[in-house]
Amino acid sequence: GTQVEWKVFEKSKVYMADLESGLHYLLRVELATHKTLEGEELKTFKDFVTVVAKLFPGRQSVVKLLETLLEWLVSLPLEKIPYDAILDLVNNKMRISGLYLSEQVQWVGCQGSSVALRGYPCSLWTLFHVLTVQAANRPDALANTGFEDDPLAVLQTMRHYIGTFFGCQECGKHFEEMAQESLNQIKTVDEAVLWLWRKHNQVNARLAGSMSEDPMFPKTQWPTPDLCPTCHEEQEGLHVWNEQMVLAFLKQHYSASNISPKYSS
Ligand code: FAD
Repeated sequence: GTQVEWKVFEKSKVYMADLESGLHYLLRVELATHKTLEGEELKTFKDFVTVVAKLFPGRQSVVKLLETLLEWLVSLPLEKIPYDAILDLVNNKMRISGLYLSEQVQWVGCQGSSVALRGYPCSLWTLFHVLTVQAANRPDALANTGFEDDPLAVLQTMRHYIGTFFGCQECGKHFEEMAQESLNQIKTVDEAVLWLWRKHNQVNARLAGSMSEDPMFPKTQWPTPDLCPTCHEEQEGLHVWNEQMVLAFLKQHYSASNISPKYSS
């Protein structure tokens, strides 16, 4: 196989290379398994593009590409869109106007000790954490999209995307169960940030020691005390989270200013 050079990275950072590689994989690989988009699938894809176009704190060429894709999807009166038309737009039309999403996969914070581990699923979690934090930090970003004043905008979009397109169907089933259980209790954008954190930790706990665990990146309850000491407390000898501190940490860790441009070509 191809030897991929290990990239030095910091656990306290989020990497633009992971987010862009994830978007590349989503648009050019995952979506390609659906030959045409229609009905609920098309709605799910449109909602996804809406949320990323408005909230993704990316480089201008990528954000512009997402905005152009959104305008195109919204302006099309079609009930059915062939995937090839989407790919054509992403690959050709956009390149002409200088809008560009790299076709190179470059995992950094999401690199695994083998090619089968981490990568895309890691980037998808990262992307949705970034989006929930952006929705909380920029309350007006979703104005005039149909999602304004909806604290569930990002999570519902993620739920539908994961259930419809995510290659791991078992993951989609588990995520849907968690969503059905408690998504309707969320009343604010801050609660949405914390909900995704809590559910991600639930998944980490379930997967600890399983086949999908990278031995170099053991599943933990995150953030670990080295990343956020004040997130952890003890009550009567038992570990408890200080959720106020966790929220502040998430809003810093997944903020635009903590995204490193290192390795993004
Ligand atoms: P990931 O769990 O992918 O996490 C990526 C990064 O996010 C971590 O490196 C860390 O920096 C940060 N992080 C970790 N925990 C949290 C947290 N609680 N809050 C915020 N940030 C955090 N695999 C299965 O085998 N079965 C499943 O049912 C399953 N369900 C999934 C559901 C979804 C929605 C997604 C996106 C993935 C799912 N996966 C599932 C894949 C699995 O969760 C991991 O993504 C994959 O195993 C890669 O793990 P990882 O070590 O890269 O860390």
